[in-house]
Amino acid sequence: MSSEVKEQPVSLSPREVTAGRGMLVVVSSPSGGGKGTLIRRALKAVPKLGYSISFTTRPARASEVDGHDYFFVSVEKFKAMIEANGFLEWAIVHGNYYGTSHAQIENERLAGRDIILEIDVQGAASVRRLARDAVSVFIMPPSFEILRDRLVGRGSERPDDLALRLRNSRSEVEHYREFQYVVLNDDAEKAAKLLASIIYAERARRERQEEVALRVLASFKQEV
Ligand code: 5GP
Repeated sequence: MSSEVKEQPVSLSPREVTAGRGMLVVVSSPSGGGKGTLIRRALKAVPKLGYSISFTTRPARASEVDGHDYFFVSVEKFKAMIEANGFLEWAIVHGNYYGTSHAQIENERLAGRDIILEIDVQGAASVRRLARDAVSVFIMPPSFEILRDRLVGRGSERPDDLALRLRNSRSEVEHYREFQYVVLNDDAEKAAKLLASIIYAERARRERQEEVALRVLASFKQEV
């Protein structure tokens, strides 16, 4: 994992970014932690929940579809997007560029949808700084051995990339302390339910129910 992290200056203050709109749900885990599966299940289970499709310079895997899993772009195009303030955050992870589209997030949130960002621990730190009410969830693999077996079994990485990801996982797991929630991924179904529950519970937070509560209160103030 590179230490290089970049946040784009946003035109809104952190308060304005978060006020009264869809919430950001940041989900991180080491490579092979199984967050992709959990997120797919949560997206099916939870209504009005969107997914941020990141941009990356990593080559697509055989199973991946451009515009669905990622937008796969060249380093030149990625750098041009950085220049054009196209990213909410971006980072170099396992030697490739990854970034969250500013426009995509804004569109989803303006439409009142909550949105999941499946990003690394550096990106999670950037988003937390930009959007103080972002919800952050760390998906913890049950053990290093299980993570390694999953990554090897997936067979999607070249040996050197696999070794790099395993090496980086040792420092990535240390970052769990920076997250509000930790979901142990020892059972995919159970873990996906827990992730969905976190999203439901966060939606019910008093701060996020202010508008609803005030509307109800107004009805109590009417003369009958
Ligand atoms: P993979 O190559 O396995 O799809 O992803 C490698 C790492 O990059 C994962 O930890 C994934 O969460 C992270 N990642 C994916 N998209 C983004 C992004 O937009 N920003 C950041 N900072 N990390 C990302």
